[in-house]
Amino acid sequence: MAGADRCLFCRIASGEIPAKKVYEDKDVFAFHDINPQAPTHVLVIPRRHIPSLDDLSLSDAATVGTTLVKVAQIARDLHLNSDGYRVVANHGDAAGQTVFHIHFHLLGGRNFGWPPG
Ligand code: 5GP
Ligand code: ZN
Repeated sequence: MAGADRCLFCRIASGEIPAKKVYEDKDVFAFHDINPQAPTHVLVIPRRHIPSLDDLSLSDAATVGTTLVKVAQIARDLHLNSDGYRVVANHGDAAGQTVFHIHFHLLGGRNFGWPPG
């Protein structure tokens, strides 16, 4: 698992590695997924390095809560809210987590089946 210094998403949020930015503020960074799974596929991350959902404790509540509120704000800004959208957070091998910096996938622009694959 990459430490914060070598973490891909920390490096994207700092501008060291380029990405198609959607939104940023002091707490949160959002950018288009390099391999989109829907017409709109944005990754929303806290700037603070937290590897995964399994690492969360109550002291992270403000960070994660703020990030999720920004997901909803970005969805409105992209006009995804009227048709609907899906938010996904993968943890671990069974869910296919590949980047160990906590992130929310914001997916929109098509219909999504349930249960998910
Ligand atoms: P996970 O599988 O961990 O839930 O999601 C990681 C996501 O990061 C994947 O959807 C993958 O396409 C995306 N991703 C991986 N590397 C890069 C990259 O270098 N740039 C961008 N923009 N997205 C990436
Ligand atoms: Zn990181």
